[in-house]
Amino acid sequence: MNLVLYRKYRPLNFGSVVNQEHIKTTLANAVANNRVGHAYLFTGPRGVGKTTLARIFARAINCQNRTGSEPCNECEICKPFLENTSLDLLEIDAASHTGVDNIRELIDHLQFAPTKATYKVIIVDEVHMLSKGAFNALLKTLEEPPSHAVFILATTEIHKVPATIISRTQRFDFKKVGIADLSKHLAYVASDNQIKVSEGALMEIATAADGSFRDGLSLLDQVMNYAEGEITEELVETVLGLTGVKTLSKFLDLLVENQTQEAVSFISDLTYGGKDLYQFEKDFLEYLRKILLTKVGTTSDFGYTEEISQKMKDQAQALELPRIMQIIQIFQKAEGEIKWSSIQSLPLELAAVEATEENNPPQSPLILRGDEAAEEPPLNVREGEGELFAKVQAHWPQILEKLKEYNHSLISSLKLAQPISIEGKELVVIFPYKFHKDAIEARKNRIVVDQVIEEVTGLKLMVKPTLQKGEAQVEQKDELVESALKIMGGEVEN
Ligand SMILES: [Zn+2]
Repeated sequence: MNLVLYRKYRPLNFGSVVNQEHIKTTLANAVANNRVGHAYLFTGPRGVGKTTLARIFARAINCQNRTGSEPCNECEICKPFLENTSLDLLEIDAASHTGVDNIRELIDHLQFAPTKATYKVIIVDEVHMLSKGAFNALLKTLEEPPSHAVFILATTEIHKVPATIISRTQRFDFKKVGIADLSKHLAYVASDNQIKVSEGALMEIATAADGSFRDGLSLLDQVMNYAEGEITEELVETVLGLTGVKTLSKFLDLLVENQTQEAVSFISDLTYGGKDLYQFEKDFLEYLRKILLTKVGTTSDFGYTEEISQKMKDQAQALELPRIMQIIQIFQKAEGEIKWSSIQSLPLELAAVEATEENNPPQSPLILRGDEAAEEPPLNVREGEGELFAKVQAHWPQILEKLKEYNHSLISSLKLAQPISIEGKELVVIFPYKFHKDAIEARKNRIVVDQVIEEVTGLKLMVKPTLQKGEAQVEQKDELVESALKIMGGEVEN
């Protein structure tokens, strides 16, 4: 990760920290009123300013030349704190110092009064990584801290910090930085470096940073290295391998308009364009999530430009909630499959087909008939179920023969099955094996079977595949089974 810009633009006082207003104010007030606690816990996502604020606070409570609550960053306390050469400021990364010995060392160090500062400040980053023993040692010190000690514990995973530790601290929950705030900050950094960046490009970077300052500046750094002249949306997308929000929006349009062919071509284009399909999938899911949040009214302000915000609102409005959920589910499933698929684009192409096909108005006569049957029971079923069933039974061999023309593989699932009754508009067919039953249960297959039954018998029925209880009848030499096997060219084994 490129951290040049991040280090250069790290805020040095409370006033220049963007976002986290509530935390800034509370800490600044503690400094101004000289009410400094012994232990603070900063929790929140990575790159949102936890360590930055911890360091500002460490200087502010010790600075001899404060303006209000702001450290001067010049005095003999501030300077060594800034350079991290002071004995009164200790920063440890718990990720690499997890053991009880590391904490004991800290505690020993705390026994001595500060050399120059008023407070000895200990910043423990990623505190959740400490071992159990280390936490216990830390807890003892937090219970009876030396009067000159100030602990600032930082974590991205608060649920891994023991409750006994949390209860000894003042807790501050840091939030992700919004896209608008982050864009604004990135715009400032870019202009300070005499770099021209389009509004759309800033938004793309801010979106990709996912609420993290550190990531945002690191991404800007990366893009700046490639830029000759103005940084555009296209450049950002190329350098970072992102799919821009406009492109994601267009893809959703294709799905919603049931344009199967275009949607699949869209995926192919991404593949040939060398895009990271896994990243695209992630970006698209995030986009769908925002449409969902807009739809349910949680929020529609994601910090995007006016044009894009409006487009997203329109899309959310035009879509029914179940349809949004359906598309999300289809693509969520694809996300899990991309990693394992030998053809990376296949799960996405399938998802595109599924998301467009399912809501297509019925076109083929097969599907049309299936849908009609689902809606209202046709009259002829009510004539008398016994009679109708006899008719189906009599025609079963022809039904199987006809099915063979439609779909050869269906026969292997049906050859051991038997129709046993008609219930309402359903034809109950029993299967000795679950996988045969499941195959016929699949909607597409069921529709074909229903269609063939109608063609042969003139009856509108829906097949209801049912698993046969026990195995007694499996080997029964039955007329129906025999005729089925004849069609398959097989023999009944005894
Ligand atoms: Zn100072």
